[in-house]
Amino acid sequence: MAPSEFVSRSHILHRSFSDRPAKVVAGDGISLVLESGKKVIDASCGPSVSCLGHSQPEITDAITNHLKNDIAYVYSGSPYTNGATEELADILLSHKPGGLSKAIFVNSGSEATDAALKLAVQYWHERGQPQRTHFIARKQSYHGNTIGALCVSGHESRREFYKDFMSSNVSFLDPCYAYRMKGKSESDEAFAQRLARQFEDEILCVGPDRVAGFVTETVSGTTLGCLPAVPGYFKLIRAICDKYGVLLILDEIICGMGKTGTMHAWQQEDIRGPDIQTIGKALGAGFVPLSGVLLHQKIFDALSAGSGGLAHGHTFQAHPLACAAAIAAQKIIKRDNLVERTAQMGKKLEILLRREIGPLPLVGDIRGRGLFWAVEFVVEKDTKTAFSPRINFCNHVVKQSLEMGLNILGNLGYTGKYQVDHVIICPPYIVTDCELE
Ligand code: PLP
Repeated sequence: MAPSEFVSRSHILHRSFSDRPAKVVAGDGISLVLESGKKVIDASCGPSVSCLGHSQPEITDAITNHLKNDIAYVYSGSPYTNGATEELADILLSHKPGGLSKAIFVNSGSEATDAALKLAVQYWHERGQPQRTHFIARKQSYHGNTIGALCVSGHESRREFYKDFMSSNVSFLDPCYAYRMKGKSESDEAFAQRLARQFEDEILCVGPDRVAGFVTETVSGTTLGCLPAVPGYFKLIRAICDKYGVLLILDEIICGMGKTGTMHAWQQEDIRGPDIQTIGKALGAGFVPLSGVLLHQKIFDALSAGSGGLAHGHTFQAHPLACAAAIAAQKIIKRDNLVERTAQMGKKLEILLRREIGPLPLVGDIRGRGLFWAVEFVVEKDTKTAFSPRINFCNHVVKQSLEMGLNILGNLGYTGKYQVDHVIICPPYIVTDCELE
């Protein structure tokens, strides 16, 4: 793809070499304001990040107040702590959701995935089982773009260039993708059991004493398009993890922090919770980069009984300014009951999508939870025939939507058999009825 003249001249390397990106100069509520003066409703919060919109004066004030009255940076590897980091961890964990009791804050979702994997490996070392280094993940999953995160991501096109550096200590199972993979006469229960059997078989094949953890998104995001599991799936997975001591590592970087209508998406799965959970994106509402890893008390107990510290760390870990912004975001979400609001507005969004978009001939499936929805496109509804990847249909939809003043996210997933051509619509928690329409 030849670079456009603008892209060739610019010193910033954009992700696309062909399109000239429009410059965003401001935010106005849930909209982006472009240099041309045009306003675009950000109906996907970027990649599911800006959950409080793009202009939230309370967060801007919290950031400036923090810089004026507190400390901008404290090295987390030094013998110091800081108020913002401690307070954010308290906000998230003082009620110990599912037994999660410790947090680590890093800068991106990919770093959080890497940290989660390394913590799992360290946990098994401290437990005297250093041979437990194998992870089981799912096909067509996405857990981030660093090499560590790509090792457990089943998204083939994102892995392609880097295959030679990837760990072979990862196996990939079928995702819980009912629209295409559930048999015609198969019940949800039978489908969940089939996938659970596959999981158990894989543990037995690798050897239960070699498996460190199972890594999965609770609600799949960008690759399979806002895909919740069928009821009962996670209960079975949790039970199998418990049976073999395999750590359940839930990636809620895209689907967590309120987006699905509960603070954590796993809270709708009737399980006690994960052993390790990653969070990001909506955690700080996009004002300053921030993500995190939440650990169950049992992980901390093993780590603290062992070598006496974390083997993992970054220069900008637990950045006070990022934590101050996230504290402000989380306080607004709590004060304004925005998680409950997300569940309510999500019902309205579902009705609108099913009524207005569902009947269109190229719409195969509409799925999601809370304010986290996707539309999957097909050539033919009845046969569910997928578009060829060359057509990149979702990209056309995204471009048309932009012209109409609506920013949504387009993604081409691929299961190894099916092209999952879809767009994601996940508006901010503050979206109004009128904006939803
Ligand atoms: N995990 C999931 C489920 C994601 O959707 C993403 C990003 O889209 C990541 C991890 C990686 O996050 P980041 O892009 O912040 O590194």
